[in-house]
Amino acid sequence: KRKMFLSVDEYINGVAEGNRMVLSRAITLIESNNPDHFAKAQQVLQQLLPRTGKALRVGITGVPGAGKSTIIEALGNMLCDMGHKVAVLTVDPTSSVTKGSILGDKTRMGTLSRNQNAFIRPSPAGGTLGGVARKSRETMLMCEAAGYDIIIIETVGVGQSETTVRSMVDFFMLVVLTGAGDELQGIKKGIMELADAIVINKADGDNLLKAKVSRGEYERMIEYIRPATDGWQTHAYLCSAIKKTGLKELWKVIEIFVKMTKDKGSFQKRRENQLLDWVHSMIDEHLHNLFFDDPVITGRMPEVRQAVLTGKISPTQAVAELINLFDVERAAK
Ligand code: GDP
Repeated sequence: KRKMFLSVDEYINGVAEGNRMVLSRAITLIESNNPDHFAKAQQVLQQLLPRTGKALRVGITGVPGAGKSTIIEALGNMLCDMGHKVAVLTVDPTSSVTKGSILGDKTRMGTLSRNQNAFIRPSPAGGTLGGVARKSRETMLMCEAAGYDIIIIETVGVGQSETTVRSMVDFFMLVVLTGAGDELQGIKKGIMELADAIVINKADGDNLLKAKVSRGEYERMIEYIRPATDGWQTHAYLCSAIKKTGLKELWKVIEIFVKMTKDKGSFQKRRENQLLDWVHSMIDEHLHNLFFDDPVITGRMPEVRQAVLTGKISPTQAVAELINLFDVERAAK
C-alpha cells in the first residue's frame, strides 16, 4: 500500500538508490506550492547535492512540429542502448491545468517512456516562468542524484523559455525544418545565437535534397552570428529522427563539444556562471515580490501612479518615494 507521506530520509535514500517511484514523488514535492513541501524538498535536495552535477545537460528547442520529441525519443533510446541513463524534462510556460500545453503530453515518447533506463517528466503546470525555472532546475538535480547521467530539457519558443533552458544546460540545439527561405524569417536571430548546433530534421525521402540546400543557407547565416559558446563553432547538421540517420553523428558532435570545452575550461566556467545567475535571479524575484506584495506599497501605489500620470511628480521621484516608504517600513519591523 502506498504511504501518504515519506520521511526526508526515505526521499533521500530512495532517490539515491534510483527508485523511480520515489524520484517521481520527490519531484512532486519540488513542484508543490505548499510551504511545508517546499521546506521538505529543500532538506532532501541539500543532502543530495553532493550527488548532483555529474550529468551532461542538453537543451533542445524548435517550433511545434519540428520533430523535437521524435528526435528525443530516437536519441534517448540510442543513448540507453549505449548504457546511459536518460532523463527528459520539459519547460513549457504555457503548461497549465486548464490551458493544456504546447509540448503536449508525454504519450508522445511512447517507446522511451517504457525504457527502464529513461525517465520522462513533463513541465510543472502553471506559475511564473521564474517559478517553473526553479522547479525544473531542482528536478534536474534530483534526476542527477538518482543516477541519470544525461538530462535532456525540451522547450518551445515561447517568451523567455529558450533563454531559461539555455541557462540550465551545457549544450543547446535548435531543431529546424527545411525550406529555410521563408522559414528563416520566422526564426529569431536571438535564438540562433543561443544554439551550439542547428539540426535540420526530416532530412529524408523527397526532402533530403532540400535539407542539404537548407544546411548551406544556415551555414551562411551562422557566419554572421556570435557563437553561443566560447571556442566552439556552431554548425548546421542534417538528421532524420524517423529514419534514425544523423543521430550517431549528432551525438559525436556533442561528445567533441564536451571534450573541447572541458579542456578549455569554458564548460566549468559556464556551470559556475549558471549557478551564480540562478542565485541572483532568485534574489531578484524574491525582492520583487517582497516589494510588490507589501501592503504598505500596494496601499500607496494607486496614488503614486496617479501622481505620475498627471505630471505631479516625475517617475524618478515616484520610485524614490516608494522605495523610501518600503525602507522605513522594513526598518520598523
Ligand atoms: P515536436 O512538436 O517538435 O515535438 O514534433 P514531433 O516530434 O511531434 O514531430 C512532428 C511530426 O513530424 C510528427 O508527425 C512526426 O512523425 C514527424 N517527424 C518527426 N521527425 C521526422 C523525420 O525525421 N522525418 C519525417 N519525415 N517526419 C518526421
